Amino acid sequence: MSSRVGVLGFFHESNTFAGRHVTEADVRAACRHGGAIAAEHAGAGTVVAGYLDAAPKSWETVPLVYVELVPCGPLEPPAAARIEVMLRTAVRDGGPFDALLICLHGSAASTMEPDLDGALLAAIRADVGPDVLLGVTLDLHANVTTRLVDAADVIAGYRTNPHIDARVRAAEVTRAIEGCLEEGVRPSVVDIPVPATVHILAQGTSTAPMAPLMAAVDDAASAEGVLAASLFQGFPWADTPDIGMRVVLTTRGDRTEAEQLAVGIAQQCWGAREDFVPRALSPRDALGALGHGTTLLLDIGDNIGAGAPGNSTRLLHAAIDAGERATVAVLADPRAAVVAAAAGVGAVLELTLGEPPLPVAATVLAISDGRYEDTGPTHVGHRYFDAGTSAALELSTGQHVVVCSRPVMPSSVQQLRALGLHPRDHRLVCAKGVHSPLASYGPHADHVVFVDTPGVTANDLSRLTYRNRPIPLFPFEDPDPALTPRKRTR
Ligand SMILES: [Zn+2]
Repeated sequence: MSSRVGVLGFFHESNTFAGRHVTEADVRAACRHGGAIAAEHAGAGTVVAGYLDAAPKSWETVPLVYVELVPCGPLEPPAAARIEVMLRTAVRDGGPFDALLICLHGSAASTMEPDLDGALLAAIRADVGPDVLLGVTLDLHANVTTRLVDAADVIAGYRTNPHIDARVRAAEVTRAIEGCLEEGVRPSVVDIPVPATVHILAQGTSTAPMAPLMAAVDDAASAEGVLAASLFQGFPWADTPDIGMRVVLTTRGDRTEAEQLAVGIAQQCWGAREDFVPRALSPRDALGALGHGTTLLLDIGDNIGAGAPGNSTRLLHAAIDAGERATVAVLADPRAAVVAAAAGVGAVLELTLGEPPLPVAATVLAISDGRYEDTGPTHVGHRYFDAGTSAALELSTGQHVVVCSRPVMPSSVQQLRALGLHPRDHRLVCAKGVHSPLASYGPHADHVVFVDTPGVTANDLSRLTYRNRPIPLFPFEDPDPALTPRKRTR
C-alpha cells in the first residue's frame, strides 16, 4: 500500500539580542502552501528540495506549508501563534499521513517561548499521535532541546558550515523514513547534550576544531544501523535555557552501539573545547595586514545569517579612514536605497548611511528592484534572492556601496553583480556574515579575514549579557560533565 507523506516546515534562527522581531505580517508574507512550495524549491539545494526529490514515486507526497524567514530577533507572540496554527491546520486538514518530513531550524524562539521548534514539534506529535513517523532536518546551529528530540523519530542536522549539505541531509531523512515505513521499524534516537558553545570563528567545518569532529560524525553515520548522525554546534546568540551543543544519533540497530558512538563524539567534542574560543582581528589590524589581490573582510558583529541587521558602517568607515578606495560593501539601509533609486542613475547625493550614521557624498551608479538569482553553490542552497529596492553608489572617497531595502543573507556575489559590480575589481570586499558568504564570495577572493566587530552576533560572547543561559556552560564556566546518553522519555 502506498504511503502518504506530508512535507512542511518553519525555519528561523532567532537572535534574542537583535532588536527587530518577527511580526505576524512577516510570517504571512513568507508563507507558502502546496504547489508553490515545490515551485520555489525546484532545482535548489534546500531541505525542502531534498525531501521532494528524494521521496519515492510510490509515495503520495504532499507539500503542505513552509515558512522561511531571514534570521533576526525572536518572533512576536502573534507571529508564533500563526505559525503554530498554520502547521497544525495543514497537517490536520491534509491528513491522515503515515509520516511527515519536517524542516526546522532548531533555534527559533518567540518572546514568550524560548524553544519554539520543540513546542511546535511536540504539538504536531500530540495531534498526529505516536504512530506517525516524524523525520526532522535541523540546522547545524540548532539548540536542540529534550522536548524536540522526544517528539521526533529521525533527526539529521547539517554537517557543513557554510551549509551546503541541506539537500543531502533531507534526502537521508527521507530514505530513513522510507525504510522504516517499508519494514514497520521504529527508529530510536540517542542524544547527549554537551555544555559548550563555539565562537563563530571556530564554527567552520573544513578546519579544526570542527573538521575532525565532523569526520567522527561522518564515521558514526556510516556505522551499521545508524540512520543519521549529527553534532549540533548550537546557536550562542540566544539568551535561552537550551543553548549549547548536542550529539544526536538515530538508529534502527543496536541502541547500545549507537550510545557508544555518541559518547565517543561527545568526549572528542569536549576534549577540543579550548579551541572553540579563537580571537579575531580588530578592523584596524585587519586593514593593516592586507595581502595582494582581493581580500574578503567578514563583519562578525553584523552577521545577517545570525540575526544582525546588516547596517553596520564600521568596516566601511575603517576602509575610508585607511584610504582604501577599491572597497565594496553592502548595507541594508532602506531609506538610502529608496532615496538613491528615486534620484536615479548619475545623481549626486549627500546621504547618511547605516549605523553608526556615516555621512557620505555619493554618485548613483545603478538601481534595481533587488531581485537576483544564483544557481550556486550558495549557503543552504538558496537560489532566489529579493533585497528590495537597491542601488549601487560610488562614494566621493572612492568606495562602492550597495544599499538595499532589507537584509538578505550575504550568500551570493550576484547581489553585487546584478548592479554591475564585481568583487575582483576591488581590493576589499566587505560581507556581513562569517561562514555564509564563503561558498559564493570565496572563489572571488585571494584572502579571507574575519574582523572582530561589535554587534548582536559578536565573536566574543562576553560582549553580550546573558540572563537565561544554562549554567554551567563553556567557555563561561568549565564544568566536568558526565557526557552520558539521555534516557528517552517517549
Ligand atoms: Zn546555521
